Amino acid sequence: SPYSQSFLEAASIMSQLSHKHLVLLHGVSLGKDSVMVQEYVRYGPLDLYLKKNQGEGKVTTSWKLQVEDKKITHGNVSAKKVLLTREGDAASGSPPFIKLNDPGVSVTVLAKEMLVERIPWVAPECLNDPKSLALPADKWSFGVTLWEIFSGGNMPVSLLEPQKKLDFYQNSLQLPAPKWAELAALIAQCMDYRPHCRPCFRALIRDLNSLITSDYELLLDLSPADVMLRDSFWGYEPLAMCQDPTYFEERHLKYISLLGKGNFGSVELCRYDPLGDSTGELVAVKKLQQHSAKELQDFEREIQILHSLQHDFIVQYRGVCYSRGQRGLRLVMEYLPNGCLRDYLQKNEPRLDHRALLLYAWQIGKGMEYLGAQRCVHRDLASRNILVESETHVKIGDFGLAKLLPQDKDYYVVREPGQSPVFWYAPESLADNVFSRASDIWSFGVLLYELFTYGNKSKSPSEEFLRMMGTEKTVQIICHLLQLLKDNRRLPAAAGCPMEVYTLMLSCWAFTPGSRPTFGELVPKIQALRDSFFFKPLG
Ligand code: ADP
Ligand code: MG
Repeated sequence: SPYSQSFLEAASIMSQLSHKHLVLLHGVSLGKDSVMVQEYVRYGPLDLYLKKNQGEGKVTTSWKLQVEDKKITHGNVSAKKVLLTREGDAASGSPPFIKLNDPGVSVTVLAKEMLVERIPWVAPECLNDPKSLALPADKWSFGVTLWEIFSGGNMPVSLLEPQKKLDFYQNSLQLPAPKWAELAALIAQCMDYRPHCRPCFRALIRDLNSLITSDYELLLDLSPADVMLRDSFWGYEPLAMCQDPTYFEERHLKYISLLGKGNFGSVELCRYDPLGDSTGELVAVKKLQQHSAKELQDFEREIQILHSLQHDFIVQYRGVCYSRGQRGLRLVMEYLPNGCLRDYLQKNEPRLDHRALLLYAWQIGKGMEYLGAQRCVHRDLASRNILVESETHVKIGDFGLAKLLPQDKDYYVVREPGQSPVFWYAPESLADNVFSRASDIWSFGVLLYELFTYGNKSKSPSEEFLRMMGTEKTVQIICHLLQLLKDNRRLPAAAGCPMEVYTLMLSCWAFTPGSRPTFGELVPKIQALRDSFFFKPLG
């Protein structure tokens, strides 16, 4: 692939160079995943280091960035690609020591959206024509990296939405000038939109050297005007994302494990670790498996909906993470270590009595009542989409995923046979794709059934309905299911399920949507049942 080829080229270039300020390449290992074996650089990427050390003591030593002018284009200069080998120590007078890392995959083979991701480090001329990658492009990136280093490893522009990033270049905008006039001038020269006007590295190094010997301390005491400039820049719309707690940066999301895979997405356990020292918090991160424009749009809507909801019995939204542009949109939510209710019921059946089951039903009902009041229809209410916070607390998850239902089809593309959500669907959803609060009630009835069968696989709604269908089950499942429901066939009462509970289920399964109860009516009934079970022997 062009990627691995470019990767090898980068490795080849690195292997041909040796300089104290370049990371040493030990070798390359080729296989399913090609890797470069490099020297270990103790303090890692400079941008992280700068961010981490912002509060604690100033970086008082001069930063010396040297880039060798060997007519070789690096093509991906940024503080991320600068590794810190040694911390500076003002007391002993030893300056910090950095090394430039390999450029990785070249901009000449990257997809446009990935180029956009590299704004503002990628030179403007390379964005329009990656083939124009040449030394001047490195000068631009060098200027941006200087700015980044002196802003403590921050680069608000990099957090903008792709379109805003493009606008930044289209309008030939500049990063706000640092107070240190000489430094600002240097950066401005590098970040000239006309490639041929950028100074040569020899001149840059000369200027930097003279800067370093001048009073660097000036910079560290920002004037009120400078602070205002910086803050107004950051405050400027999405730049606030930098400090926006609902914005998660992709590279700080450290994958830990796969939590689950559903029909459209997958959910991963990650640690959000901006300091890179495993001190960050655990979060659940959902992403789409496919990325058609339609699915993406639905996913964005799911995120919007979840964002607007705040309830004890609804999974808590934390934020979003954009990677490789909009296509890599991910939903970040709280992590619930007990996983989904279906698995939890299976595992803990002996410990969970009917009162516990009715507590879950009550909480889900409360959550659904709130949802309904927000004019929101869940459309995928099922035990696999309920998350367990603790033995006495569950939350509704997997929001608006049913909105991903393809418009041209009335069924899901089934991944695991027998796991198709159609068995949770109300007749009108099966027949006409009509979803409403009343169809949510139907699904809630099925969820009640799942509760009282403890998520038992052999008694699952799918298994039961498929059994009822008999031999014809493989063709036209929806037609057959609909016919069954029209014939007034319903899921059976689970063994040991109290009659009052089964009566509730049957009321949710009234054929006509208008005949079903509302969540507002169901919730007190469930509560009353719970209370009655308190005085009666169970089962
Ligand atoms: P899908 O759209 O893929 O069905 P879900 O939101 O239903 O996505 O998540 C799939 C599975 O991932 C769930 O059944 C559950 O086991 C697990 N999961 C989802 N969200 C979380 C979370 N916040 N904490 C823990 N596990 C989760
Ligand atoms: Mg799901």
